[in-house]
Amino acid sequence: MPIIPHRIPSLFPKLFPGMLWRMNGGEKKMFLTFDDGPVPGPTEFALETLQKFGAKATFFCIGHNIQKYPEVFHKIVAGGHAVGNHTFNHLSGWSTPTVSYVENVKQCDHHLPTINGRSRRLFRPPYGRLTFGQIKALGQYHIVMWDVLSHDYRQSGSGEQFLKATVAAARTGSIVVFHDSLKAEVKLYHILPRFLDHFSNLGFSFTSL
Ligand SMILES: [Zn+2]
Repeated sequence: MPIIPHRIPSLFPKLFPGMLWRMNGGEKKMFLTFDDGPVPGPTEFALETLQKFGAKATFFCIGHNIQKYPEVFHKIVAGGHAVGNHTFNHLSGWSTPTVSYVENVKQCDHHLPTINGRSRRLFRPPYGRLTFGQIKALGQYHIVMWDVLSHDYRQSGSGEQFLKATVAAARTGSIVVFHDSLKAEVKLYHILPRFLDHFSNLGFSFTSL
């Protein structure tokens, strides 16, 4: 099994209360998120699967990928899903000076639609890595973390094993991370439809953030 648990330690939200880790209230609701797209293939698979279950999700897009695959990005928006910023070049905050990091986030913004009806744009840091200085510098964004990881990008382990662990970790209000990337596609294709099927049968609904 992965060393990093599927459900994050409850200490994290206490250490970083300014960031969103899990949604409060609302019975039997979950919030699925997809990082690293848009990518032809996996993004379209995610969209088609979500549609089958009447589910809406949130896609944290890499600016460079939006530039490369605008038609795939358009499908996300046309599907009524929410989109957020995941930097332009998928930078790690820990190894990037704050000024360059914030510039890269702004560069991604140029490729995203305007934030209608929101006070702040959604942002998710690649690898979940941010320094305290970066958190402060990104104060105008709504920083979205997660409480459940599917580990779909990991090469070790089986899709079935990760499906079971992800199902066991998820609960009402959970923000679950998937990846619409080539690296994750084999496990994503196994986990996502079965995850949606399991929780739909239990009466859960899936909405965007
Ligand atoms: Zn990422």
